[in-house]
Amino acid sequence: MEAEQVDRAWRDEPAAAHAGLAAVRDIREGLYLVLRAAIIDADGGTADDLVAAGAALVALHQRWSGAVARARFVLDSSRVRLAYDTVPAMLVPDRIAEAAYDVMLTADLTRVRRCPVLEGGCGWLFLDRSRNGSRRWCRMADCGNVVKARRLTERRRAARPSGSEAVGEGVPVRAVMPSRDAQQTFAKAL
Ligand SMILES: [Zn+2]
Repeated sequence: MEAEQVDRAWRDEPAAAHAGLAAVRDIREGLYLVLRAAIIDADGGTADDLVAAGAALVALHQRWSGAVARARFVLDSSRVRLAYDTVPAMLVPDRIAEAAYDVMLTADLTRVRRCPVLEGGCGWLFLDRSRNGSRRWCRMADCGNVVKARRLTERRRAARPSGSEAVGEGVPVRAVMPSRDAQQTFAKAL
């Protein structure tokens, strides 16, 4: 029902659909810059990173306040909540703006980590909720396993006598690696 309303709004007004998509990308990029700045000391950033994060906070506040302005209060059985459904074309970016707000205000930002690019990871940000705070990969099923498989392939290749290169051996690491563009994208923890 709700998805149909959004679909119809986007079809009826393609410019509104593009505006919604631009808003989503804006929020994603802004949140990345803010969370990245939160780990700058640990991950080696520059003063420019802090300036970019400050600008991103301003932009995120504008997105969030726009979303709140479009929202309405709804009385559920036990509480009042904000519903972001008055402008269907903006429903998706408005909910994402709320989610970004929620992460920034409630998450423990000392737990933000970056999937290690230098070790073959994708550079995405995530929240480390492990008990001892030692999680390294965005998701073990993605980068963790890919890097492990690549190391195994490299070890096997190093152990193999020269001239015995076999086609089809090993894991097609590049085929499943997230694109490098992913480094500039949204925190996966959302
Ligand atoms: Zn990763």
